[in-house]
Amino acid sequence: MSSGRVTSKTGFTAFMSVLDHHLQVSEANNQKLGLILVELDNLRRVNTTISYDAGRDMLVAVAEVLQGVARSCDRVIQYSDQGFAVLLCGVRNEGHCELAANKIWRELEDSFVVDGHRVLMEARMGIAIYPRDGRTPKEVMKAAEVAQNAATATTHFAFYSPAQTAEATGLIGIEADLEQAIREGQMEMHYQPKLALQNSNPCGVEALMRWFHPQRGAVRPDIFIGLAERLGLIDDLTWFALNTSLRQLREWPQVRGDFSVAVNVPPQTIQKIEFAELVLNALQIWDAKPEELTIEITETALMTNPKASLETLQLLRDEGVRIAIDDFGTGYSSLAYFKNIPATELKIDRSFVFNMLDNPGDRQIVQTVINLAHGFGLKVVAEGIEDSETEAALIAMGCDQAQGYFYSKPISNRGLQGWLSGFAYTPTPEPA
Ligand code: C2E
Ligand code: MG
Ligand code: MG
Repeated sequence: MSSGRVTSKTGFTAFMSVLDHHLQVSEANNQKLGLILVELDNLRRVNTTISYDAGRDMLVAVAEVLQGVARSCDRVIQYSDQGFAVLLCGVRNEGHCELAANKIWRELEDSFVVDGHRVLMEARMGIAIYPRDGRTPKEVMKAAEVAQNAATATTHFAFYSPAQTAEATGLIGIEADLEQAIREGQMEMHYQPKLALQNSNPCGVEALMRWFHPQRGAVRPDIFIGLAERLGLIDDLTWFALNTSLRQLREWPQVRGDFSVAVNVPPQTIQKIEFAELVLNALQIWDAKPEELTIEITETALMTNPKASLETLQLLRDEGVRIAIDDFGTGYSSLAYFKNIPATELKIDRSFVFNMLDNPGDRQIVQTVINLAHGFGLKVVAEGIEDSETEAALIAMGCDQAQGYFYSKPISNRGLQGWLSGFAYTPTPEPA
C-alpha cells in the first residue's frame, strides 16, 4: 500500500468538513467509505508518568503506523489530542475495513520506545461504513464513536451495530451515578471460589465487585470499572474491594490452611508507591496475614511505569503478599517479563480454557503456559472452567488451581459462607 497523507492535526470542526467532503465524493461515485477512529487510551498516562516528549513521540509513531496502512486515496487525520481518524475510500465491504484495522492493531501492539521508555499502545478502534451506518458526517462519526466504546482491550476494534446505540443510550447518566454509588455504598463484593486441583479443596477466592444500581439493576463490572478508571474514581473502588475482602475473610471460619483472597488492582494504582503501605496497613487493621491476600494485576500493569510498579510489587512480595498475573495470554508478555515480576501465580485467561478441548491450538497454548510458569516457580490457575472434561484435561496437564462456573459462579459473602461450610475437605494425597 502506498502512503496516504497525514494532516498533522486539525480541530474537530475542520475534521468534520474533511469527512463531509469525502462523503460527498463517495456519494457522487456511488462508493462506500470506511471510517476507523483510533483512540489512544494511555496517552495521558504516558504524558504524566513519563513525559510530554514521550507522549509526542507516541503520537508520531501512531501517525506513521496509520500512514503505512493508508492508500493514496485514503486520509489519516489527527482530530483530537489522542484521536485519529482513517478514511478508507471505496471500500467494498466490512472485510476491507477489518483487514485495515487488523493491520493497524498488529503494528500498534508492538511496543514503542518513546523518550527512552518502552511503552505499549493501548488503543481502541471503532469502525463505521457510509452509507450503511449513517449518511451525514455527524451520523457516520457518531456510529464510529459508539463502535469504539464497544471495543475492548481484548477485541481492540468493533464495527458499528444499532444494538450498541441502545446500550450506549442505556448508559447515559451512569457516570454521574457512579460517584454517588461509591459514597452511598451501593457496591458489594462477591467471591468466586478457587480450588486446588491436587485435592479439590478450596484454596482461595477471587473478590469481584458488583454494583446494584437502584433503578438500572446490576451494572457489568467491566463497564463500571472502566468508567471509574476514566473518571479517576478507581482508587476508591480498590480500597473498598481491599478492605471489604479482608474484613469478610475473617467471617469465613470454615477456611482451612492455605487460603487467600484475591483482589484485582488496576495498573494506575500499582504505580503508586504509597499503595504498598496502604495494603500493609489494611492487613494489620483486619488482622490478616500477608499470605492471605493475593493482588491480581494484568499483564499490561507493568508496561507504562515498570520501575514504580515493580517497586510496589516487590515491597508487597517481601512482606509475604501473593501476586497473581491475571488474564494471562491476552497481552504481550515476553519471557523477560517473568524474570522481573515477583509473581507467585499466573492465571490463564478464560478465552484459552473454554474452548481448549475442541481447539488443539488453545490446548497447546495452555500446556505451554503451564510449563513456562512452572519453570519460573509460579503456580498456575485456569480461569473459566465450565465442565468436568476441561477439569480432567487440566489436571492431566499439571495445572495447579481452577476457577469457573463448574465449581461456582461469584457469590455473595453469605452465599460463600454457605458454600464453604457445605464443603467436605479431602485430605491432601501423600506424594507417591
Ligand atoms: P477477571 O479479574 O478476569 O475476573 C474473572 C471474570 O470471569 C469474572 O467476571 C467471572 O465472573 C468470570 N468467570 C469466572 N469463571 C467463569 C466461567 O466459568 N464462565 C464464564 N463465562 N465466566 C467466568 P466479572 O465478575 O464479570 O468481572 C469481569 C472483570 O471485571 C474482571 O475480570 C476484572 O477485570 C473486573 N473486575 C471485577 N471486579 C473488580 C474489582 O473489584 N476491581 C477491579 N479493578 N476490577 C474488577
Ligand atoms: Mg481477576
Ligand atoms: Mg481474569
